[in-house]
Amino acid sequence: MRSLLTELERRRQVHLYRARRVSEGIQGPELKIDGRFVLGFCSNDYLGLAGHPKVVAAMQEGAAQYGVGSGAAHLVNGHSSAHHQLEEELAEFTRRPRALLFSTGYMANLGVISGLLSTGDRFYGDRLDHASLIDGGLMSRAGFRRYPHGDIQVLENWLGRRGDGRVMVATDGVFSMDGDVAPLCGLAKLCSEKDAWLMVDDAHGLGVMGREGRGTLEHLGLGMDDVPILMGTLGKAFGTFGAFVAGSEALIETLIQQARSYIFTTALPPAVAQATRASLLLVREEEWRREKLRMLIALFREGASELGLPLMVSETPIQPIVVGSAQKALAWSRRLEAEGIMVSAIRPPTVPENSSRLRVTLSAAHTEQQVLRLLSALGKLQVEEPL
Ligand SMILES: *Cc1c(COP(=O)(O)O)cnc(C)c1O
Repeated sequence: MRSLLTELERRRQVHLYRARRVSEGIQGPELKIDGRFVLGFCSNDYLGLAGHPKVVAAMQEGAAQYGVGSGAAHLVNGHSSAHHQLEEELAEFTRRPRALLFSTGYMANLGVISGLLSTGDRFYGDRLDHASLIDGGLMSRAGFRRYPHGDIQVLENWLGRRGDGRVMVATDGVFSMDGDVAPLCGLAKLCSEKDAWLMVDDAHGLGVMGREGRGTLEHLGLGMDDVPILMGTLGKAFGTFGAFVAGSEALIETLIQQARSYIFTTALPPAVAQATRASLLLVREEEWRREKLRMLIALFREGASELGLPLMVSETPIQPIVVGSAQKALAWSRRLEAEGIMVSAIRPPTVPENSSRLRVTLSAAHTEQQVLRLLSALGKLQVEEPL
């Protein structure tokens, strides 16, 4: 049997070793990490709500009102009025009859896919789907295949096969490591023709895309007829924690009965639900956050292309710079850190071999000056060792 230490050493040698950093203080662009102040471009707090005083106050009031722990699962006595109201508000926000809270996005994806599909059914996911969709597919015991990124043609061939079982297609709305938007209009049309369920994981679109922040579906003008299963997370643009699924009455009731990652786990702390209600209000009302984000994205893209940096096709706050090898991504990330800037190096297996990248993410909490500082540090590296 190979020892764990040998395996770890091998991982280190191929530049795939991962280590955690210790951060102190409130989440925001200026972070104290491992005792040093850095300017961060790696958070998913796209609207700058994770440390917002109103959201923090709502959490404190929630804790005073409900205590800290929920005490039990939703189906026992852990389902508080805070959870219930948040679900109703999320349903209204997404313009769907019902919404159901899950403890995390990972668990929501496991629960939906394995709760709706089983042996004899079929599940298709985009090659670049988030790991939790893939794991949900594996767990479900349905026949599982991944189509090439965004390739509706291939999917169409696969969906053409007739069978008795249920068929589900699942895709990220905004792809987490590339920042591009899934071809949802084409997927929706195809799925409705072929009688397949379309599920969209909008972890990175919700709050950010669409005029009202209702996500990739709002951006593309799609509704529940097009995408019957919508999953959103609360730990990114909402700045809190948790996730939800929104859809029909029948979908939500089925998940309550059958989604094991919903049933067999303790409900989120009600105070987190209260904080999320406050952040939902800010997401809806403060459109300027999305406008500012768009301005910063344009500023970054313009500057980066002037520097000759290889950007991807992305109109979202996820602006990866693909550098190729894991070693090079790590080297660039370390050199930026020496300049006081934190950008994470994303390496396999999170992304395919030879597409390691610096995953730059922007937030409405960044200032123009901070984005210019990032560009100037990138410019310096580009002169020293061009990409
Ligand atoms: C972050 C993320 C998840 C997982 O959500 P958590 O709430 O962090 O567990 C699922 N899908 C996508 C696309 C994500 O980016």
